[in-house]
Amino acid sequence: MKTTIQGSVSRTILLLTGALNSFVSFAPAQARPLPGPDVPQIYERLLPQIEKIPAFDHHAHPGFSDDPDVDAMAAPPDASSALRTRDDNPELIAAAKALFGYPYSDLSPEHAKWLVAKKSELKKQYPGTAYFDMILDKINTESSVANRAMMPDYLDPHRFPWVFFADSFMWPFNNERETARNPDEGVYIPLQEKMLHRWMVQEDVSKLPANLSDYLDFISRVLSDNQKKGGIAMKFEVAYFRSTTFSDPTREQAEEVYNRFISGSVPPEKDYRIFQDFIFRYLVILGGRLNLPVHIHTAVGIGDYFNLSQSNVMGLESVLRDPRYHSTIFVLIHGGYPLEREAVWLAAMKNVYLDSSFGELAQYPSAFKETLKMWLETFPDKITFGTDCFPYNEVLGAEESYWLGAQSSRLALAAALAEMVSENEITESRALELARAYLHDTAVGLYHGKVH
Ligand SMILES: [Zn+2]
Repeated sequence: MKTTIQGSVSRTILLLTGALNSFVSFAPAQARPLPGPDVPQIYERLLPQIEKIPAFDHHAHPGFSDDPDVDAMAAPPDASSALRTRDDNPELIAAAKALFGYPYSDLSPEHAKWLVAKKSELKKQYPGTAYFDMILDKINTESSVANRAMMPDYLDPHRFPWVFFADSFMWPFNNERETARNPDEGVYIPLQEKMLHRWMVQEDVSKLPANLSDYLDFISRVLSDNQKKGGIAMKFEVAYFRSTTFSDPTREQAEEVYNRFISGSVPPEKDYRIFQDFIFRYLVILGGRLNLPVHIHTAVGIGDYFNLSQSNVMGLESVLRDPRYHSTIFVLIHGGYPLEREAVWLAAMKNVYLDSSFGELAQYPSAFKETLKMWLETFPDKITFGTDCFPYNEVLGAEESYWLGAQSSRLALAAALAEMVSENEITESRALELARAYLHDTAVGLYHGKVH
């Protein structure tokens, strides 16, 4: 008995070994755990081809530093910034060299004047919308989302499709308590009140309606009118203002809160959240009906009071996986960073996409490469490129951060794909298909011919 078992075990091992040998010899595409010494050569071959792909920047804040509409909120004073996102990052000097031929290696006040003068000379040479079009040409970006409070006349709407902000509809009551929560909210909440007021002016509404049903009509009108003005998506930065976990209140509950507080008394936090949870879900449904994708800030944020444990991407899971919202496209702006490993699994939902912006600026390319590689190995058809460019100040503008974001993303992408090719995960031609999808095609596909 014993002998027989041993015999059959040996035969099985022999058969398995044979099968394994033939598998190894006939399946050269079996992935291997370490990249080979060919990574640098593959990288050198891929990079110039990746640089030639015209990009669609899925998340950016283009504009001049003195333009208050670049965002619907502002950075709180004296907030900490991560190392690479500080305005003394020497890579921004490399950006000024590449874009404007900046001749110095520092940004001393005397030298900085050269850069300011050069830019104003170029603005004369490229008047109106031509200046920022020229910047996009220099970084091979075909078009770039302009996530802004309002659009200015100096951005070409054909190349800078507008993504407007929808958070302010959630703050229609007396916000005394909200504003007093911490110094950051003291900056943010009054700007939300201002934004809501601008929507009221746009719709010719002098006072908020007395009942919820008229308030919801007002919201729908703003959304449709923004869409007519060229808006392609609505954006939430709600994580800066409250938790991203939304309960599921009834309309009656929201109505009760609205009726109680629209005349001016301060709502307790619990009541305010019930109302906001209802409005957020209402906006999500409208996004599906109007074909307006919903962009949501999902990352750690600026300011020292950003609550990462309450406002992280996973808080959104119950909304994203709710079948009632299957016709709404969600774009998780900043891909949940630093929880991008968790976030990519939310893209299992057919209507959920990730945008990598900010990750490429917050991390150096060596680290951002790991993010992209993990995403490319999980849902490569659900990830999109963005820079989150922003005008830092009068000297270093959106121009330099566009350059740094685009450049860093292309370098990290080439490196991630080179490792995947070397590890036998994909071929080089598949690598270039994935690069085109990430840099351009996947995002453009979400807007039904409205962008290119
Ligand atoms: Zn942004």
